[in-house]
Amino acid sequence: MIEKTLSIIKPDAVERNLVDEIKKIFTENNLNIKDSKKIHISKEEAAEFYKVHQSKPFYDALCSYLSSGPIFVMILEGKNAISENRRIMGATNPKDADPNTIRKLYGISIDKNSVHGSDSLDNAKKEINFFFKN
Ligand code: UDP
Ligand code: MG
Repeated sequence: MIEKTLSIIKPDAVERNLVDEIKKIFTENNLNIKDSKKIHISKEEAAEFYKVHQSKPFYDALCSYLSSGPIFVMILEGKNAISENRRIMGATNPKDADPNTIRKLYGISIDKNSVHGSDSLDNAKKEINFFFKN
């Protein structure tokens, strides 16, 4: 199924000028970038975006981190885009990520893991709408 999903290149990767390299990995894996923008969100916006994690011990640090510097947000489109993006990203903890995944290649730690990707069709719709409202 042709799907759309939301990808975020997080502050640690934007700061290391990895945007073009990461975009190339998506396009080489048949995920087309339909829209994109570089933005710097507030901690309140990060808290809204990551609301699903509000009961987790890492929530406050996660929101501070996502708002700590510019991020690059993208709508990716392609066959099975949601699961394909998750596969290309690799496991949440770069230490556990498969070889050649973005998180294995570029992730620094479980919190500074370079990319975000929607985890379901429902969340992909919500997350795309969060950043790309018309
Ligand atoms: N995270 C963290 N500590 C943890 C688990 C997660 O800092 O113990 C951060 C990490 O940046 C992760 C984000 O919270 O990407 C969202 O967690 P989730 O479990 O949804 O992982 P993801 O879907 O990003 O792989
Ligand atoms: Mg997640």
